[in-house]
Amino acid sequence: MSAPIVRPLAELRAMVGGWKARGESIAVVPTMGALHEGHLSLVRAARANCDRVIVTLFVNPRQFNSPEDFARYPRTEHADAELLGPLGVDALFVPDGDEVYPPGHATVVTVSGVTEPLEGAHRPGHFDGVATVVTMLFTMTQADRAFFGEKDWQQLQLVRRLAADLKLPVQIVACPCVRAADGLALSSRNQRLTDAGRGRAAALPRALFDASARIEAGEPVAAVLAAARAGLEAAGIAPVEYLELRDGETLGTPQPGRPARLLVAAWLDGVRLIDNVAVILR
Ligand code: AMP
Repeated sequence: MSAPIVRPLAELRAMVGGWKARGESIAVVPTMGALHEGHLSLVRAARANCDRVIVTLFVNPRQFNSPEDFARYPRTEHADAELLGPLGVDALFVPDGDEVYPPGHATVVTVSGVTEPLEGAHRPGHFDGVATVVTMLFTMTQADRAFFGEKDWQQLQLVRRLAADLKLPVQIVACPCVRAADGLALSSRNQRLTDAGRGRAAALPRALFDASARIEAGEPVAAVLAAARAGLEAAGIAPVEYLELRDGETLGTPQPGRPARLLVAAWLDGVRLIDNVAVILR
């Protein structure tokens, strides 16, 4: 059985109202669809944590940098609903673009600081789109807990900041990145890799884990990052947009004694891949 698809906001609100009246807890898992095991791991965590689970599917035009990328984004709504049915999802909320952004919609949520480097520097407007839609998804679903993947590390820090700053009554739950057997982080965009590209793609996580181990062993960060970047480019994973060591929470300069994160964005086969790993700085 497929998960029930809900489109009109009024219908979602009526369901949520009934659940709230019975004192049931509500989880939300925001997605852009084309679901894979990474998304499903979030849904399983949500199912284990809350009485009701809403998965949202909205390919948010405001967080894409080009109309072509938005148009090319995979859309597999029917298959998504089928994948979610057996997981006990109460609603797959698929709002219409016109209901999310009706004519006259003029409110943009901007989170500063964490959003400025890396993805923020390379994808102007992307995080405003994310912050605005996530805020609306929180208010539309009235979820008590929201589940996000560590795959999108900077986005996760943005969402934590947003929820704290706006005093939103939602708890943010982070879930580990799910990887394929060869280490590549699962992503809806991986579908667009050629077979040859998919074969080479594991060089990306390998470079990250290797660089993380070298930094943790005390090798100089700049030299490790330069070698990792050269290795990626030699493997045909190019251009490398960024490969940087950052503070794990603020995304600012990494500090000894605080969790750090090594983050990368690089191109393969015309597909933009992002990934990140933990680094413990002594
Ligand atoms: P997306 O559909 O790409 O917007 O992703 C929706 C949610 O799934 C986000 O919180 C992502 O971080 C999360 N996600 C995507 N890929 C993975 C993965 N490989 N492992 C864990 N979470 C993921």
